Amino acid sequence: MTDFAATRALFYLPPGMIYLDGNSLGPLPVAADSRVREVLTREWGGELIKAWNTADWIGLPARVGMRIARLVGAPAGSVATGDTLSIKVFQALSAALTLRPDRRVVLSDTGNFPSDLYIADGLLKALRRGLELRLVAPENVADAIDDSVAVTLITEVDYRTGRRHDMAALTAKAHAAGAVTVWDLAHSAGAVLVDLTAADADFAVGCTYKYLNGGPGAPAFIYVAPRFADSAQPILAGWMGHAAPFAFDLDYRPRAGVERMRVGTPPVLALAVLDAALDVWDGVDMADVRAASIALSERFIVEVEARCPDLALASPRDPHARGSQVSFRHPHSYAIMQALIASHVIGDFRAPDLIRFGFTPLYLSEDDVVAAARVLERVMRERLWDDPAYATRSAVT
Ligand SMILES: *Cc1c(COP(=O)(O)O)cnc(C)c1O
Repeated sequence: MTDFAATRALFYLPPGMIYLDGNSLGPLPVAADSRVREVLTREWGGELIKAWNTADWIGLPARVGMRIARLVGAPAGSVATGDTLSIKVFQALSAALTLRPDRRVVLSDTGNFPSDLYIADGLLKALRRGLELRLVAPENVADAIDDSVAVTLITEVDYRTGRRHDMAALTAKAHAAGAVTVWDLAHSAGAVLVDLTAADADFAVGCTYKYLNGGPGAPAFIYVAPRFADSAQPILAGWMGHAAPFAFDLDYRPRAGVERMRVGTPPVLALAVLDAALDVWDGVDMADVRAASIALSERFIVEVEARCPDLALASPRDPHARGSQVSFRHPHSYAIMQALIASHVIGDFRAPDLIRFGFTPLYLSEDDVVAAARVLERVMRERLWDDPAYATRSAVT
């Protein structure tokens, strides 16, 4: 059994704050502080450029990829790290499209995160091959998979409501229709049980600043199924994905395996923080995390529904049909969330009318969840949200 009291001690959490926004930005792992100091002072400061070899900075992206692979059910050596998720979506989708040159449709859904859709739209326009980005409602994805579809570009867990697609079933359906799958795991990695191998996924991408706690703007990751890893075309072909970067050949030759998906110089400081954040997961069983996250979210729903009759559950009621987050609807959601944050319970707001809460058993207990529901009850009962100070929206909601 995972010891969640022990994992909680591995995070810095401001006293008096209940943090239910780890689905957007995970908290600071205590170990990140000393790790980044060591990289700054001893490695960069002391070793300068030698550190690429002496501290093996050059091998850091692959080492971090190995650790993420374990958390998403991927074999060692099938996950590369770096860049941002939006860029990894571009790479995965473009590589997937080259595998189905005879088909015209990229299928996604209206619950997808806009950046994924913008990237897809931009890529399809740039390719000038008459490709179509076809969007359907999330519940219609399975029915929309037919033999016109080249690639499905689906985010497993909806960022607004937590609604979760059945990755294995949709992948099987896509394969039966001859389509290639790209899965976005932004709200899945570190949140739910992901088994890319068992689901037979082709490509997957994700970010590491949400449930993996890698820090703001932490490097993203990309998975390529071993069957495609030596043939997938990286498209964004940078020197770090070259078979011999220090040969400085004029011609691009992709590396063997998933490391061809690397683009440029790795962000060493950010990777060092992420590496320290991944220490937390040593000895953590994802099945325990999932079971505990379901218990926390179920308890929160019971408490909030009993205490706050004006809030309507916007997430699926079946815990297996949602990820690790719960949302409620209310016409004054923005102000409610501001009042809640002022009372030291941190969640977030998603347009047009959702308050959203993430559940991360690594550092949250049932007591936290009940206490948060009590504060929410007070915000609603006493109309603490009905204050002009909470009416104007900040740049980041
Ligand atoms: C958080 C998130 C992103 C963000 O992409 P970045 O490039 O890291 O800013 C993209 N897609 C999904 C599905 C997300 O949840």
